Amino acid sequence: MPKSPEHRHDRDHPSSLARRVILVTGAGDGIGKAASVAFAAQGARLVLLGRTRRKLEQVSDTIQARRLETPLIVPVDLHGLGPEQAKTLAEGINREFGGLDGVLHNASIVGPKVPIERFPLDEFRKVLSVNFDSAVVLTQALLPLLSQSADASVVFTSSGVGKRGRAYFGAYAVSKFATEGLAEVLADELRNTTRIRVNVVDPGPTRTALRAAGFPSEDPMSLPAPEDHMPLYLFLMGPESAGVTGRRFSAKGWRAG
Ligand code: NDP
Repeated sequence: MPKSPEHRHDRDHPSSLARRVILVTGAGDGIGKAASVAFAAQGARLVLLGRTRRKLEQVSDTIQARRLETPLIVPVDLHGLGPEQAKTLAEGINREFGGLDGVLHNASIVGPKVPIERFPLDEFRKVLSVNFDSAVVLTQALLPLLSQSADASVVFTSSGVGKRGRAYFGAYAVSKFATEGLAEVLADELRNTTRIRVNVVDPGPTRTALRAAGFPSEDPMSLPAPEDHMPLYLFLMGPESAGVTGRRFSAKGWRAG
């Protein structure tokens, strides 16, 4: 008799994320791509959200090639994401998987690296829209689903410049300060009333397209690969981090325990 997906995960993936439904934004590239593959490899069912359909399909192909559960692909431009779009997404996830256990807010753009005095306002607003506003809109739409999970985890992605501003990092740094604030407020609001934990990850310098855009003269091979950070991402999405909330984690040098 053919094995059901549950049996397959139990046999091949006796892991921590078995059957969890996890949404990853910016899942088509870099850290989001590595996290999606790592979560799926541990038995999670993935919702891959990103701007470029082709990239999401490639990530989905990688996951399916390993005979893991087929992800739901959601090609969406987070710039200007509205509540109706987010509500449609939440309904789609519920229809497809019947719930949601985790969200990795990961998509970001760097924007121009120019002084604040000359920062084009439309670009400033776009960076805030993609990196921060969309996370608020998604949070509002997805909290009802997350509230129904027995053990939900929300992870926001920050940066070193989200704690200490740095010249010419303009809107990107501001968006990360805002993200850290959102995560702190949300963690505090949810701490005593729900089973949803909320934490922040600062991946640190990592070999991705975003880093190369910010530091074009740097040798990418001198940096860790996204895959090197996956123990922390798996910890935060899995049951081992139950009860851990309102914390900020640096991926650099992180070790379990
Ligand atoms: P990448 O540029 O490799 O990946 C970012 C992803 O976000 C891409 O898949 C991209 O989609 C997606 N994205 C960008 N804009 C939109 C949009 N408007 N709508 C939907 N999706 C969008 O970046 P990283 O993997 O490096 O970054 C991941 C996270 O880590 C970010 O939050 C970043 O700020 C943070 N970080 C990264 C560091 C690093 O050194 N790499 C250091 C500190 C923090 P597409 O490919 O289709 O454009």
